[in-house]
Amino acid sequence: MWQAFEYFLAKISARRRAGALVFCLGLLLFCTTLTGEARARGVHELNYFQTSEVEVQGRQATRVEIGLDRDNLTYTAAVPQTEPDTLQLTLQKTRRGKVQADIPVQSKEIRSVQFTEAASRSLVVRIKTTHQTLQTGDYQVQLALADRKKRLPYRLVLDVFHPAAAAVGAVEGVRGHTIVLDAGHGGSDSGAVGPAGITEASVTLPVTQAVRDILQASGARVVMTRDTDVDVYGPNASDREELQARVNVGARTPGAELFVSIHCNAFSSPSAHGMETYYYPKTDADYRLASLLNEELAAAGGRFNRGVKEARFYVMRNSAMPASLVELAFITNPAEERLLADAAYQQRLAAAIARGIARYFRERLF
Ligand code: ZN
Repeated sequence: MWQAFEYFLAKISARRRAGALVFCLGLLLFCTTLTGEARARGVHELNYFQTSEVEVQGRQATRVEIGLDRDNLTYTAAVPQTEPDTLQLTLQKTRRGKVQADIPVQSKEIRSVQFTEAASRSLVVRIKTTHQTLQTGDYQVQLALADRKKRLPYRLVLDVFHPAAAAVGAVEGVRGHTIVLDAGHGGSDSGAVGPAGITEASVTLPVTQAVRDILQASGARVVMTRDTDVDVYGPNASDREELQARVNVGARTPGAELFVSIHCNAFSSPSAHGMETYYYPKTDADYRLASLLNEELAAAGGRFNRGVKEARFYVMRNSAMPASLVELAFITNPAEERLLADAAYQQRLAAAIARGIARYFRERLF
């Protein structure tokens, strides 16, 4: 290459040589300016990704932190009309780098985070949430400066808030009462599984926890058969051992007055749908509890009401106190599965169950 350049120089006159030199210097200057400008404008590259559960000003939230190798990020945030459960962030002049393109997230508020490199060097981040319709107040986005001590880079920080129990409101009439709540399945037993992979156990726990939160906020004493994703008896127990372990929680709770077990229904045909509540007629109170829960769930859930039904379910038959088992909806029905997995819908069902329990105490006939 250089030889060819010397040959070229030898061939042309001194005047032309001087001209060529000026041209080359000019070209060099131009190129330097160009690379300098590219550096100043900067193309961001992702270098960090983290999710965590946090509390922000008293509100529970799932936090997503996306780290960048340089600051001065320009971004926009929007909820696409066609995907109301998804928050879309568009990061200007950003490349994905080594961060995975599609990250599944196991949290109350977020299902997955996807990165797509789009036109004009922008990076689209799609955060799929558990909210059916994401509202402005459900999330916040901010930029955080690098923290050398904590070894954290410059970050884009997104918080998706859990719908507040306080917003649903307390119920009246449960103060001083003791209630046992049973979140169906858990641990080695996921319960029924929907077509999109949502498990019964992953629905019953947050619904039951939300019922507890409302009842406790209303002055009741609440005992849960389980408060995490576990077997109550232990892994791989027989059905009878597992169910008896749940009955035992009630039997060992001094002053326990009610036992409510929360489940999702399942059927071989995906078209089966609706809500139903069950009782075993030990006393009249068993039926009354099941029918009040049914009325409230029907009013709040907006699903087909399959009614109040008698059954010989173990936990109802073997609990000494009035008991009811509720089937919120069919997890095997695609539309109902989506609803059951939605945090706001879960909260609505929980509020309905809490209202049913409150009415049981308020409207007592004896
Ligand atoms: Zn079940």
